[in-house]
Amino acid sequence: MSASSIRLFVESPLHEGAIVSPSDAQAHYLMNVMRAAPGDILRLFNGEAGEWTAEIVNLSRKRVALKVIAQQCEMRPEPDCWLCFALLKRQKTDLVVEKATELGVSVIQPMITARTQADHVNMARLRTISVEAAEQCGRLVVPRLRAPMPLGQLMTTWPDRILYVADERRDAPLLRPDASQFGPRALMIGPEGGFTDQELEAVTRTPLVTRVSLGQRILRAETAVIAGLALLLSGDP
Ligand code: SAM
Repeated sequence: MSASSIRLFVESPLHEGAIVSPSDAQAHYLMNVMRAAPGDILRLFNGEAGEWTAEIVNLSRKRVALKVIAQQCEMRPEPDCWLCFALLKRQKTDLVVEKATELGVSVIQPMITARTQADHVNMARLRTISVEAAEQCGRLVVPRLRAPMPLGQLMTTWPDRILYVADERRDAPLLRPDASQFGPRALMIGPEGGFTDQELEAVTRTPLVTRVSLGQRILRAETAVIAGLALLLSGDP
């Protein structure tokens, strides 16, 4: 695989001539996985400056240095869509974070609900999963990953943002993207055991909240995340 297909997210300024030191994990990836070599060209993004080419100028165990060459593309508009999901077991939460990143969310907000199956999460690991997904799928930003929050607390601080709560009960209207949905919005997905009646009642009392169906079948939570985001973001540029 030519080095130019390598994309790395870096948390440093990107401008012509800048010297960037990738993380230890990225250095390992370059040296031992991609077998890159000095002189190879790769692509960098930092979430603010679009995408830039860079040359590997030093690649050793002691030091890895990348010299920024030129901008390849400017920042593009991104959907302003949050994903709020009840924490799931580790592998399913990992999958949700990876797919939500690929599908273009701006914020990932894990929630603690009455029937949530997990009560702690390794945020550093989820951040790595999200960064790697953004690098792989060509995004120019990495979603903001927020610490898990109890559903009640999330709703008492809910901002000026349309919230689509996925409710598998029969009477919710099907989630359909339309132009009005291009503004700030969010999708909320419950735990494997579903929201309690009290939770749904409390959430739908909050302004800007709409209960939506994702179809006739009862989807697993991680499937509902993917299906719901695909529907909600299908019209975005
Ligand atoms: N109460 C469900 C049951 O009877 O098995 C369990 C909840 S479902 C496995 C997990 C979450 O996915 C739900 O809380 C809901 O947010 C979402 N979900 C699953 N299927 C859905 C559908 N057809 N429409 C809307 N949301 C759905």
